[in-house]
Amino acid sequence: MPKLSERALGIKQSEIRVMSVECERVKGINLAQGICDTEVPPPVRQGAHEAIENGNNQYTRMDGIAGLRQAIAKKMKRYNRIERDPETEVVVTGGSTGGYLSTCLALLEAGDEVILFQPYYGYHVHTLETLGVTPRFVNLQPPSWEFKKEELERAISARTKAIVVNTPGNPSGKMFTREELGWIAEIASQHDLFVITDEIYEYFRYDGREHISPATVDRLRERTVTISGFSKTFSVTGWRLGYVVADAKWTNAIKYFSDLAYICGPSPLQWGVMMGIDELGDEFYDELNAEYAQKRRLLCDTLHEVGLTPFEPQGSYYVLADASSLPGKDSKERAMHLLHTAGVATVPGESFMKSGGETLLRFCFAKRMEELEEACRRLEGVRANV
Ligand code: PLP
Repeated sequence: MPKLSERALGIKQSEIRVMSVECERVKGINLAQGICDTEVPPPVRQGAHEAIENGNNQYTRMDGIAGLRQAIAKKMKRYNRIERDPETEVVVTGGSTGGYLSTCLALLEAGDEVILFQPYYGYHVHTLETLGVTPRFVNLQPPSWEFKKEELERAISARTKAIVVNTPGNPSGKMFTREELGWIAEIASQHDLFVITDEIYEYFRYDGREHISPATVDRLRERTVTISGFSKTFSVTGWRLGYVVADAKWTNAIKYFSDLAYICGPSPLQWGVMMGIDELGDEFYDELNAEYAQKRRLLCDTLHEVGLTPFEPQGSYYVLADASSLPGKDSKERAMHLLHTAGVATVPGESFMKSGGETLLRFCFAKRMEELEEACRRLEGVRANV
């Protein structure tokens, strides 16, 4: 019989999927998976419907339709304060996931090392490992998930090619400060590294914090590849549309790999997202913010009450909580205990770390309010067991 590739031998089912399957079996509430249950904004839906009716159903240019690239460039200038040419420096991709994969294919070689902050988002690490790139980790320390500049310096080797920054971050909700981004800029320019950012949660930020795009920091503009998308903001995780914005020196290669994998983003959906960016004003983003701030408050207050101390997220829509009061030898057993006693699924902390995380659980609050309220009632019900 033919054999699987070497790279396929290391794959295993993600803990998020394991928890989701068990959650479905026991009819629990799934706070494990990062699926947004909020309504898709009307202009986004309408734009996609109209595009299908108008016959916009074929391949587009590999880097996306002109209108969407222009809308992204305008939004980047206004919200992120990054100015890039929509003709050559904006690439529409198959989700931000496709953007990240295409970026890694374009910039990295097998044998390179890339620095990430841990707890990390699993896809960032697994993509690198699939390409034969070695991830190196710098620890983020709770409760506010700071890191030490010296630890970042120590993580650099002659093979380091890039630093990945996820801000606001999954699973910690960390938002990198200007000072921290300054350290990253200093080290990246000293060692001539790329900075690859994932800003998919850029609109989910709390307590008046401002999203700082790393590419706006001194010395980072040229060497930074900015990745984001629409899955979370427009609640369209299944549409698979994201983008990469960077200097044309890099986007020329990135769009080639995006083309190789996906040819282009789904055409009618590109029109929908374009309508969304063009037509939704500050009011939409303010309401989104207020809604998620309310959900974050409810979940964090409940977790405090039941003795699962949350590290309140600065951004994103996840909370990491200290679940050391739950029985279990590791975070997987603690997550299963919570699911089987409270009927609430979470993600074990160890799936976001190379080592450690045994006492952490990740809760997602991107749920409809009624569902989140029910999850909180269930959590309160197990207080006695905690
Ligand atoms: N980046 C982070 C940090 C995420 O948490 C997720 C989804 O949970 C993604 C990217 C996936 O985004 P997309 O749907 O744009 O591929």
